[in-house]
Amino acid sequence: MRRKIIITTLALMFLITAVIYAEEATIIGDNLNVRSGPGTEYDVIHQVNTDETYTILEQSEEWIKIDLNDGEGWVHNDFIEVSESSTDEPSIDRATQEEATNEEKTNVSENTYSKQKDSEYPYSLTGKVIVLDPGHGGRDVGAIGVSTNVESDYTLKTANVLKRMLEEHGATVVLTRDTDRYVPLTSRSSLSNMQNADVFMSIHYNSTPEHPSARGIGTYYYNERDQLLASYVQEGLIGYTGFRDRGIHQESLQVLRINHRPGLLLELGFISNEEEEREVGTHAFLDAASRGIVQGLYRYFAH
Ligand SMILES: [Zn+2]
Repeated sequence: MRRKIIITTLALMFLITAVIYAEEATIIGDNLNVRSGPGTEYDVIHQVNTDETYTILEQSEEWIKIDLNDGEGWVHNDFIEVSESSTDEPSIDRATQEEATNEEKTNVSENTYSKQKDSEYPYSLTGKVIVLDPGHGGRDVGAIGVSTNVESDYTLKTANVLKRMLEEHGATVVLTRDTDRYVPLTSRSSLSNMQNADVFMSIHYNSTPEHPSARGIGTYYYNERDQLLASYVQEGLIGYTGFRDRGIHQESLQVLRINHRPGLLLELGFISNEEEEREVGTHAFLDAASRGIVQGLYRYFAH
């Protein structure tokens, strides 16, 4: 009788171990938000970073529940790579494994892992033409922030960081302006048409001085066909920045309306909100926002 119990217990333990460590999620992306539920409407409870691995607990459509060791949370499946765990060792041991000797580092499974990563995520936007439009400029300063810094400076700074990142991923990037000068809306759209842009993105920051607590990122599109592009870029932006999700909206904006190319207008945060203005001025934010946009474009071009 006792033997039977022991065997059953062992079998159960084996089963639990096998189930728990069956699949691991490797994070792709820095400062990626972990949420309390499967969707961007849930609270951000934690952040994770590139190459960290977590045990997968369950999946709900595009969201994966991961074990955070001292809790659990949900990440979007675009930002993880799933791998079968070949051992029963918890993911926490990976750091120790990586500190092992060089000989061990060149073992087969490590090589397979990095190859898999490269082939599953072919990080290249080679051949894609992206036209970036830093909103406003010159005599048109756009909105004025709490700090008295102006929107046209924020948009130019953002476009420059985003341009560099897109180029690192192989894209050809054309800016509608690269200095503080006035450019009419029609010229911005014409450039997009002339360059036959694969994607046109107009960059803006929001302002509602009458509601100083308003915050968050929203994405606008005009053509029905650009709705998917808008969702992907918005999801990338929210996933990487952790900003409030103001969603995507179809609106008749001139810079998009007279543009024949796939296009978006991004409102990347509220400079009428003191805290948010401070944040959007940091390199950490611009880097996160750019990564989010790049991620969104990958999804768009892959679909
Ligand atoms: Zn604007």
